[in-house]
Amino acid sequence: MARRLPVLETSGALRHDGSRRVIHPADVHGRFNTARKALFYALVAFMLSLPWIKINGNPAVLLDIAARRFFIFGGTFNAQDGAMLFFVLISIAWTLVTVTALAGRMWCGWTCPQTVFLEGLFRPIERLVLGSAAKRLAQDADPNPPVMLTVKRVIVHILWFIAAAFVAHAVVSFFVPPTQLARFIPRGPSSAPTTFLWSAGFTGVIYFNFAWFREQTCLIVCPYGRLQSVLTDKDSLTVGYDAKRGEPRGKATDKQKNPTAVGDCVDCKRCVVVCPTGIDIRNGAQFDCIGCTACIDACDEVMDKLERPRGLVRYDSLHGLTGEKKRILRGRVFFYLAIGLVLATAGSIAFRNRKDFAANVLRVQGPPYTLEGTTVRNAFELHLVNKRAETAVYLVEPIEKPGVRFVVPLTRVSLAAFADARAPVFVISTRGNPAGDFAAQLRVRREGAPEKETLTVTAPCLAPMR
Ligand code: SF4
Ligand code: SF4
Repeated sequence: MARRLPVLETSGALRHDGSRRVIHPADVHGRFNTARKALFYALVAFMLSLPWIKINGNPAVLLDIAARRFFIFGGTFNAQDGAMLFFVLISIAWTLVTVTALAGRMWCGWTCPQTVFLEGLFRPIERLVLGSAAKRLAQDADPNPPVMLTVKRVIVHILWFIAAAFVAHAVVSFFVPPTQLARFIPRGPSSAPTTFLWSAGFTGVIYFNFAWFREQTCLIVCPYGRLQSVLTDKDSLTVGYDAKRGEPRGKATDKQKNPTAVGDCVDCKRCVVVCPTGIDIRNGAQFDCIGCTACIDACDEVMDKLERPRGLVRYDSLHGLTGEKKRILRGRVFFYLAIGLVLATAGSIAFRNRKDFAANVLRVQGPPYTLEGTTVRNAFELHLVNKRAETAVYLVEPIEKPGVRFVVPLTRVSLAAFADARAPVFVISTRGNPAGDFAAQLRVRREGAPEKETLTVTAPCLAPMR
C-alpha cells in the first residue's frame, strides 16, 4: 500500500497524512443562518424563474449561442456585440473585487451557487434521509453498516442525482428556451442530441460536485478563494475570533471562580463542528474560511447560554478584532472605486452608442474599379445586420457628392430578426474628377427610428489620378 507522507500545514478538510476528511457540519441556528437560508431560497427562485420571465416579449435572460443571439434584461445582442460582453464581465469582476476589499468573502458565504445549492438543497436532502451530522459521522465510522443504512445511502444518491438533473436543466434553460427544452425532454435524447449531451454533462458535473467534491471546489478549484490574500487587507470585513476577549480558554466554572484568569471562550468547539470547511476560526484568518457565518451563530448561541455578550466570533476587520482603529474608506477602496468609475463610464458610453443594427461597406472581389471610357465604377456590398428580435426595414440613402453618382438597387431592405443581408452599391465617377481615391458615404437608418440613430458608413473608392 502506498505510504502517505505527513502533511504539516494542512487544511481543515485534510487529515495530517494528506487523506481527505469527510466533513459533516453540525446544524446551526441563529440570525445569520435564518437570513442566509432566506437569501438562498430567494436566489434559487430568481435563478429558476429568469428564463421564464419575459421582457418586451423576449426572455429576461437567454444566451442562444447556436443562433448567436443573446437576450439580457430587455436588451438584444448578437455576436458583433462582443465589446458589450467585455464590459459586462469586467464590471461584474470589478464589483466583486471592490466588495471583497470591503466585505471579504461575503460572495462565497452568501451568494455563490456552490454555497447556495450545497447548503440550500443537497445538504438538507442528506440530513433528511440520514439524520443529523453527529449521526452521519457515526455512520461513516461504522465498518459494517447495516443493510438499512446502505439502502438509505442509495436513496440519498438517487435524490441527489434527481436534484443535479433539475439544476442542470435549469442551467441549460439559460441557453435553450425553456419551452423548447420542455418539448425535447419527453421526446428523448435523439430529438436534440446536443442539448441532451450538455444536460447530461452538467448533471454529471453537478452530481459529482455536490455529492462528493463539495468544499474541495472552494479549497482547490476556485481561483477567487486563492485571490483573497491580495484582495483583502486588515480593514476588510471578515468572520473572525476575538482572541483578546476569548483567550486564555477555560471552563465556565473557572471564570466564576476567577473572572480575570480565563477569557470568554469555553473551548466547547461548537464553532469548529459547524464549519463546512472543517477549520477552527480561533486559529486566525485562513484561506479555507468561506465566510459562511455558521461559527458566528454557533458561538452566539453558546454566549447566550452563558449569559455573556455575543460577538466573541463576529463580523469584523482584523484591525477591529485586535482592538485597533478600523477604516472602511481607505486607499485601496478609493483605487478600486476609481477604476470602477472609469469602467462604468466607458461601459455606459459604449452602451449608449450601440446601435440595434450594424452596417458595413465591403468591397466586392475582383479588380479595384472598372473603367468604361471616362467612367470609373467602384462596386461594393452593404452588409446589414438586424440585431433586433423582430423584423425591421432599413433605409439606405447615398450622401450626394459633386461628380459622384450612386446606383443603389435596394434602398429599402427588410430583415427578419437577427438576420443579415448584403445589398449591392455602385459608386460611379468621372475619370479625373475626383482625381485619385475618394470616399463616398451612405446613410443607413431603421424605418421608424429617430434621425439620431442614423449610421453613416463610408465606401473607400479607388480611381486613377487622371
Ligand atoms: S470559519 Fe466560520 S465563517 Fe469560516 S467557513 Fe468555517 S464556519 Fe464558515
Ligand atoms: S463556539 Fe465560541 S466558546 Fe465555543 S469554542 Fe468556539 S469560540 Fe470558543
